[in-house]
Amino acid sequence: MSGRLRIAVQKKGRLADESFAMLKKCGLKFSVRGDGLLARVKNLPIDLLLVRDDDIPNFVANGASDIGLVGENVFAEEKLTASIAGVEIIRRLGFSRCNLCLAADENGPIQTLKDLNDRKIATSYPGILTAYLKNNNIDAQCTEMKGAVELAPRINIADAICDLVSSGATLEANGLRAFETILESEAVLIKSSADLGREKQDIYDRLLSRIDGVIRSQGSKYIMLNAPRSQIAAISKILPGSDAPTIIPLGTDDDLVAMQAVCTEAVFWETLEALKENGARSILVLPIEKMMS
Ligand code: ATP
Ligand code: ZN
Repeated sequence: MSGRLRIAVQKKGRLADESFAMLKKCGLKFSVRGDGLLARVKNLPIDLLLVRDDDIPNFVANGASDIGLVGENVFAEEKLTASIAGVEIIRRLGFSRCNLCLAADENGPIQTLKDLNDRKIATSYPGILTAYLKNNNIDAQCTEMKGAVELAPRINIADAICDLVSSGATLEANGLRAFETILESEAVLIKSSADLGREKQDIYDRLLSRIDGVIRSQGSKYIMLNAPRSQIAAISKILPGSDAPTIIPLGTDDDLVAMQAVCTEAVFWETLEALKENGARSILVLPIEKMMS
């Protein structure tokens, strides 16, 4: 392979758009169109390998790609059922969140994990499901389906299902109810332990530091406010997940200061109300686009 870092990404689907969005936030310039298998990043020595998500762990394992962005659900399943030893999760990326759940007829006899004994469960995740049942001493049978798992109970292929759930709307539409979460999944960055070589290692390190910046800035806010000097300590305590705020004297007024802080936790209306009760005025909450420490 050339000196260009290769990233395996889902070509089309629930993971693809947010994966592209994250890479764009990292400053990568590329366009994905047509049937191409590779998209060239114009401003950095990086190529995107555009594939089905299920193939990503294997491509990273066999060196077809250096790193990959994939759902933890797929990675965990491949870990249990394919030979991808040496491929590990480097970062959790905070997008494409979903849960792998057990579900059954909302009015039927299966309402808890124990009710699954001697039952049949349809799933696309036989590895994860089998391990989970074993850990919980449940003796049930797994039936593998590649898709449309939610239809299995209705056509009597299975008594319950183990499938991905995000809003629960698909389950509801099929008269099913989730009663147990097996795995909380999000997109992850994976990499094999194989040596990248100097050139690609440098590009990878640079990309990883940008990804870290994107992860940190997700949900982070910059807060600016004015306050009486006497209230600095009280206000600092309320600012969510911030280090020591910057304090700036305000003009000629000796008593009034401007305070500025990066908040790494969510800033709610309740936070603003508490700040105001403690003397803060002219409170501004701004989004943060990038961060680098
Ligand atoms: P491919 O053609 O690449 O194999 P797919 O049909 O297997 O696509 P998608 O439905 O696009 O996969 O989902 C890809 C990933 O997106 C899932 O493995 C999961 O990590 C994540 N995801 C997030 N929300 C959901 C959801 N509600 N249902 C299914 N997957 C979800
Ligand atoms: Zn898939």
